[in-house]
Amino acid sequence: MEEGFSRYFYYRENQLFCENIPIKEIASKVGTPFYLYSKQAILDRIDQYKKAFEEYNTLICYAAKANSNLSILKIFEENDLGLDIVSGGELYKAKKAGFPSNKIVYAGVGKTDFELEYAIRENILSFNVESEMEIDVLDELAEKLNKTVRISIRVNPDVDPKTHPYISTGLRKSKFGIDIDEALNVYRKAVKKKNIDVIGIHCHIGSQIMEISPYVEAVEKTAELVFRLKKEGIELQHFDIGGGIGIRYRPEDNPPTPEDLAKAVIPIVRTTGLRLIIEPGRSLIGEAGALITQVVFLKNKGDKHFIIVDSGMNDLLRPAMYNAYHHILSVEKKERKVVADIVGPICETGDFFALDREIDDVQRKDYLAVMSAGAYGSSMSSNYNVRPRAAEVLVSDNSFYLIKEREDYSYITKLEEDAMASLITE
Ligand SMILES: *Cc1c(COP(=O)(O)O)cnc(C)c1O
Repeated sequence: MEEGFSRYFYYRENQLFCENIPIKEIASKVGTPFYLYSKQAILDRIDQYKKAFEEYNTLICYAAKANSNLSILKIFEENDLGLDIVSGGELYKAKKAGFPSNKIVYAGVGKTDFELEYAIRENILSFNVESEMEIDVLDELAEKLNKTVRISIRVNPDVDPKTHPYISTGLRKSKFGIDIDEALNVYRKAVKKKNIDVIGIHCHIGSQIMEISPYVEAVEKTAELVFRLKKEGIELQHFDIGGGIGIRYRPEDNPPTPEDLAKAVIPIVRTTGLRLIIEPGRSLIGEAGALITQVVFLKNKGDKHFIIVDSGMNDLLRPAMYNAYHHILSVEKKERKVVADIVGPICETGDFFALDREIDDVQRKDYLAVMSAGAYGSSMSSNYNVRPRAAEVLVSDNSFYLIKEREDYSYITKLEEDAMASLITE
């Protein structure tokens, strides 16, 4: 590996670059904190997925929840990917970014009537339904709107993806999908519905998966069901295996590649003859992004050293929520190293980016880059502590583009001001 983190984030003369721009230059113009994305990293990853799956009829649906910035979505749309959505809001963004409806699939255990009707009107490729009740409601709503809707049933193959429990979704005890043993009965009922066209099968076993074997197990189990359905005359069109491929959070991590996934699953899916759908999120955008933050204060307590930065868990929740590791680099390389807790300004003990981490001996006003923050970073951010959400910047070669402005205080209070004023006058 090159010095730094990757081909896209590397040191040149002790300065951390993103593609061909020193990050310090962007930071001094945009202010901190901000999310920074390498367009080339995204394009290369798209290419890798496309090449890996080109031998088989495959639709790659980027999972919007990993990062739904409109400019990021547009990159995927321009490269002919489809989209995996989990809410009406993501559907709204999908249409803004120009995704055609016949490339949109919609998962989620709690789709509201409003969201279902919205997606029925948009005529999306497939509702990935997660319960019997959802099928009943979809049928009623479709009837009311005088439409037919296409569905796939999300089955739960009861496979352990060997990842963090909060992002394991394919075990029987999880809230997702329909148990694979019950799915046959649900299919039988679904095909009788007047306004429903049953076209697929779906499974998604979890996220940040670092081994291929759980996929093989899940896809084999699901393929068995496809054959049983066939025997009963229930013919499907596609086989959606979800997303979940892990990424490098530590420099030494070695996640499976799209090629590894393709080699393992295509032979199984081929036996069913169905079109393949995959839904990668994290692995398309995660390593392409970093969170850039500035050191506010340093302090020592006993033998503990704290580096306090201007970004926190409201910007990047993963360390607090999953105890996740993110590699952190100094934007300007230092000779000396220290061991420190790198913490945010938020009034929560969980508000840290790293604990007892060996890191460059940064000083007040220096910048740090929290790596592999492109996925589940900005998309999980909040206004906790009334902190404006961070800006977002896209780098392409030696140019950079502000793709999301930093929120300001008036933006945050806008939806509360009128209410407060009217309460006072009453
Ligand atoms: C979150 C999610 C994905 C994407 O998962 P990644 O780990 O980001 O690849 C795909 N499909 C469904 C149904 C999801 O909920």
